[in-house]
Amino acid sequence: MSHSKGEMLYEGKAKRLYRTDDPDLLIMEYKDDLTAFDATKRGTSLGKGAINNAVSALLMGRLNDMHVETSFLNLIDANHSLVRNVKIVPIEVIIRFEAHGSLCRRYGIEPGLVCDPPLYEICYKNDDLHDPFITDQIAVLMGLATYDELAKIKYMALTIGHTLREIYLGQGIKLLDFKLEFGRYQPAGESEARIILADEITPDTCRLVDAQTGEKLDKDLFRFDMGDLGEGYRKLLDKLQASAG
Ligand code: UDP
Repeated sequence: MSHSKGEMLYEGKAKRLYRTDDPDLLIMEYKDDLTAFDATKRGTSLGKGAINNAVSALLMGRLNDMHVETSFLNLIDANHSLVRNVKIVPIEVIIRFEAHGSLCRRYGIEPGLVCDPPLYEICYKNDDLHDPFITDQIAVLMGLATYDELAKIKYMALTIGHTLREIYLGQGIKLLDFKLEFGRYQPAGESEARIILADEITPDTCRLVDAQTGEKLDKDLFRFDMGDLGEGYRKLLDKLQASAG
């Protein structure tokens, strides 16, 4: 069944969300816009939205197939996907296989230090406060989530991390770290909400390098003007599509 785009509910830095005729379903549109460093750096890369839509669809589709429930339902066209309507838990979950970015800045850790087992972090999703690092206790104190929800989120995030790392490694790509967001999904007629993976899994929200050459294939290309973003993202999608056979 096809769903038509209704009223725009939300516009973020890289995506827009629209209502459909079904209150449980939304249409997600991926934009070509990019921001970095708390949106102090902005840009556009033609075709980026379509690549991110395809990458997220492929990875979330794989997770759905493994019964790790995500908000992704199906691709609509180049820049649009049909997704479940969730209430986002205002927590950003980060999984790290190597130390980079804010972890190194925060603690003076040398970039590249291997995190084994993978490091699990949560941050309060709040742009004004610059998404500060928090603990489960602080999250519960603030009423962001319950301990049960946090346990579910941690288990799902580590499972997802393991799966994504394997998918990428199979294509000669090293996943160094990434960010996830979860939502509460309560379809009409159900008495309780359940935690599912929401938002996106794209090179905008992951650190990825070619395992052989070390070439960057993620948003750092834009953050640090390290090369052609479109070319890196396209290479990544091509490799993922090859893995999907
Ligand atoms: N990340 C993200 N959105 C955020 C913060 C982080 O997608 O608001 C991703 C980021 O792209 C990287 C990982 O989460 O893949 C870890 O980011 P980090 O905390 O090191 O911050 P960064 O230095 O990348 O801003």
